[in-house]
Formats: sequence, structure tokens, C-alpha cells
Amino acid sequence: MSDFPALRANTYRDTWCGQVLEDRVDSEARVAGWVHRTRDHGGLTFVDLRDRTGIVQLVFNPDEAGGAHELAHRLRAEDVLTVSGPVVRRSPDTVNPDLPTGHFELRVREAELLADAETPPFEIEGYAGDVTEDVRLRHRYLDLRRERMREALALRHRVTAAMREFLGGEGFYEVETPALTRSTPEGARDFLVPSRQQPGSFYALPQSPQLFKQLLMVAGLERYFQIARCFRDEATRADRQAEFTQLDVEMSFVTVDDVIDVNERLLAHVFDRVRDGAEHVPELTLPMERLGYDEAIDRFGTDRPDLRFGLELVGLSDALRETEFKVFRSVIEGGGAVRGFNAGRREPPRSELDGLISRAQELGAKGLVWAFREGDGWRSPTAKFLGADELRGLNERLGAEEGDLLLLVADERPVTDAVLGQLRIELAERWGLVSDREDRLVWIVDWPLMEWNPDEGRWDSLHHPFTSPAGDFDPDSPGEARALAYDVVWNGQELGGGSIRINRADVQKQVFAALGIDAEEAEARFGFLLEAFGYGAPPHGGIAYGLDRIVQRLAGAETIRDVIAFPKTASGYDLLTGAPATVEEVQLKELGISIHKRRLAGH
Ligand code: ASP
Repeated sequence: MSDFPALRANTYRDTWCGQVLEDRVDSEARVAGWVHRTRDHGGLTFVDLRDRTGIVQLVFNPDEAGGAHELAHRLRAEDVLTVSGPVVRRSPDTVNPDLPTGHFELRVREAELLADAETPPFEIEGYAGDVTEDVRLRHRYLDLRRERMREALALRHRVTAAMREFLGGEGFYEVETPALTRSTPEGARDFLVPSRQQPGSFYALPQSPQLFKQLLMVAGLERYFQIARCFRDEATRADRQAEFTQLDVEMSFVTVDDVIDVNERLLAHVFDRVRDGAEHVPELTLPMERLGYDEAIDRFGTDRPDLRFGLELVGLSDALRETEFKVFRSVIEGGGAVRGFNAGRREPPRSELDGLISRAQELGAKGLVWAFREGDGWRSPTAKFLGADELRGLNERLGAEEGDLLLLVADERPVTDAVLGQLRIELAERWGLVSDREDRLVWIVDWPLMEWNPDEGRWDSLHHPFTSPAGDFDPDSPGEARALAYDVVWNGQELGGGSIRINRADVQKQVFAALGIDAEEAEARFGFLLEAFGYGAPPHGGIAYGLDRIVQRLAGAETIRDVIAFPKTASGYDLLTGAPATVEEVQLKELGISIHKRRLAGH
């Protein structure tokens, strides 16, 4: 990117390293930066000097500038330097075509060492894979000097700049909401902050700005967005941080179509703005595809389907209603299902098939049936339990041709879907069915409002309790209610999700009740929202995106940590500052907190 403003000349520099170009030839330039690399060559010393914009070659010649040359001799990688001298064209045989400044060099007349550097714990130059991430995180300021990291942060900046540009143009105001607040309703564990002034009381760090953005709509703000830090005290996974960033959006007097419309134009705008310079940017054709939730589950076993390949799931129970095969029959009679997919014509060795069975069990299935279509029937250990008509019916439903590998799971629906949906993805990857060049972005719409949580014996929201039901809400059959909700999914990963919200206190109370939040609890936790709804709440809705995830994908980075300046480790440590850390006894005392050491030790 050459979008660097000209510098105001000072005693350190009058141009950027990366801009020692044609127009500077035969004139003096002064640059400053870090020593990237030094080389001695027949009396001359060459130094690559680096700043954020790039690298320029410096030449120290003992005959032209003895003092400077002596300094050059002592320079070590990462020393900080300012130099000046004439810019000249390199001789043709020394041109470096890989560098934008590779045709030129600066002949140093004066040099001053501005800061010494210790030997860094890893080389900055080159992105050596052998440095452990812990070392990189411990010295993040050095890691961020690497080109790849610098580019990731540049991309992140360009993404948020493009978001602001687009949303500003559409009349959205950027509004900040509190970081010290009450527990919010996304359903994860809160990070708590003890209050000194009200001993025994706690703030919660927001899991999202959900309630505040809704209050902004009640306030008549119409269109809000925020690049908001959110906190969820969950076990950090490879692609999750307990502290993460959302692009949060809300708007009033809108339908699902309105929210989707502005959001797909937002995505298209952001992608266009960063196309040049990002690793992987999808081409969007608007309007984007939409898929109903039920269909997504039926065909792909997940509400985050990767549509870039087939291997679609098929319901098979119909062909097996009368089956004598006890395993299938008892599952079907017990309200479960037999489902499967056609994995295509392939001949994996027995060991791989066994591996698939173990994998299915790991994922929660009791077993996995594999079969190859052979003639009208199957070659499979299970074939002998099934009648000829049944096999024909199964082959037909699975679209099986001679030699195709068929994989089936019999269980309750959520299990068949989850297991087959996951196998589908893993096998597509294993067999190279996923094209890196194709992108599929899809809106998942028409969600159920709630799902039954058998462990807790209650209904849970699929999104959150403020999501509006589609049409009237019947408190007697909450499982039937559909939600005005939508998620946007990119190649099998959720980028964002949201909904039209409930804007009437009576409906909100009914939904709380169905979720097992009784009136007293609702009042205690969300009374301020219910009260606000009493003062004229417009219909409203919005969405939130995981910003880290979006940038990670655009950057082609392996983890979201690579697009966060100062991330935490998987176990939540900040290796740079050493957080979390113990605090002084007096601080605890002020807060009225005492630590039960015994419990911690046993932890
Ligand atoms: N607050 C929701 C979330 O963080 C998103 C939304 O409904 O706008 O998942």
C-alpha cells in the first residue's frame, strides 16, 4: 500500500524508507528506522533500513564518510538509526527487483544511532515458522515488526475504516456504550468487576452492547453502530478470545429484508475496499443467497453450512419404516431418524472406514453404517440385515451409483445431523472437494425462536431473549414459534447474526416466561428495558459481526490471534503483561474481597 502521507521534515527524517524512489534521485534524503540487515562488501557496508512503509538500502563508504562507516560497523539488527545523504540509482547488477525501492540506494553522509537494540529473541526478518507463539506473544512488539503482522493490522484498519465509511454514509451514528455495566444476556459467563464504592456489588463487562443498542432505538437514534469490545468468560478456543470485537449495528422501523439489504451492501463495500491487499476476498453478487434454517439442517446438518461442496444429507427413515433391522427400527420407532449421505465413488481402505466409525462415535453417534452400492444392493457388513427393497429404496434416496460410498447414522435428529454434518466437512477436506477459490456467503433465515434444552429441562433462545417471534407468540407452544432472526455464514463459518427485536413489554414478558425467566428475575435483570418499552419503543432490529473473524479470513490468517495486536493465549493469559495477576492486599481490602487460598490451591 502506498497510501502514506508525505512527511513533515524534521531532524529524524524527511521521507519514509519505502519512498526513496525515482523522484529522490540526485537529491538528499533523510530517513529513520530499524536496522533490518547489514552486510559488509569489499570495504562498503550495506544496511537495509526499515520503517512501516518498507525498506531502503543504505551504503556506508569509509572514503565518503568515515565516521558514519565506523558506526555502521557496530550496528546490530533492530538498532534505531537516522541517516542522510544523496539518493542514487543502483548499478544494474545490484538492482533488487523484489523491493519497490530496489533501484535506488542512499549513500550515507551522516548517521546517528538513536537507540540500541538487544539481540531479539527471534529474527524479525523472514517469518520463521519455528518461533513458538508463546515467544511471539511475550515479545509482541517485536512480532508486530514483521511484515505479515504489520499487514494484518493494516488490513484490520482498512476493514474498520470501510465499515465506518459505509455506515456513516447510510446515516448510522457511531455511539459508545459502557464497558462497566450489568450482566447482559448472551448466555455466557460474565467477567465481573468489583465495585469499591459499593462493596459487594459488581459490574459485569458487556458480552455485547445488546441492551444499550436497543435503548438507543427507544431513544430515537434510528441508526447506530459501534466497533465494540465484548467479553465472554468462556474457555478460549482456537478461534475465540474471551475478549473480542464486534461490529454492532441496530436500526429502527425495519423488517428483516431492510436489515439484510443494508448489511449485504455493507459487506460488499468492505470487500471492495480491501480487495487490493487482502489475501482472500470473496466476490459478492447481491442479493445474497438465503437458506431457511430447517433446510440448512436437513441438507447440511448445521446452521452454518458450507455450500462449496455437495455430500448433502438425506432422510432415510421413510425407506425403513417396516425394516426388520432392529437397530434402525428401534431408533425410528423411538422418534429418531436414519440419515446419511452419499460420499461419492471412492474406495477407502478398511482401516479408513474403521476410522470413520470411531470418528462418528467420538462425535456422539452410537455407530456408523458404511456401504458401497453394488448392483441393486450393498456391499456392507450391514447389508444382510436389510431387504432387497429396502436397499433399493436407500440407494434411490441417496442417489447412489455403482461403487458409491454411503454413510448412515441412526439416532435422534440432533445427533444424526451433528455427526453427519461434521463428517461431511471433514471428508470434503480430506478428499479435496473444497475449492479455495470459490466463496459461498449465505443468509440463514427463518429460525426457530427456542430450542429444548434436555439437560436443563427448559427452553433456550437460539439467538437471545430479545429476538422477536414471527407473528403472534403462543406461550403454550414455544417450540413452534419462529424467529425474525438471521445469520450470515461464509464458507461454513458464522460471520454475524442478529434479529428483529421484541419492542413490546407484554410480548417480552411472555417470552421471558417461556424461557423460564420469572417475572421477578425479569424485573431484576431487565426491568430497565421493560420500563423503556413502556415509553414508545419503535420496531427495531440489528446484527453483530465478529470482527476478528472477518479480518482473519480476509488476511488468510490461521488464527484470530494473528489479526489482534495483543491477544491472549488459549488459556486466557496475556504473556506480554502477565495478566491476569494477583493484586496488592490493600486493593482487595478496599474492595472488601478476601481470597480463599485453600480453594485456589485445590483448583
Ligand atoms: N447481540 C447479539 C450477539 O452478540 C447480536 C445481535 O442480536 O445483534 O450475538
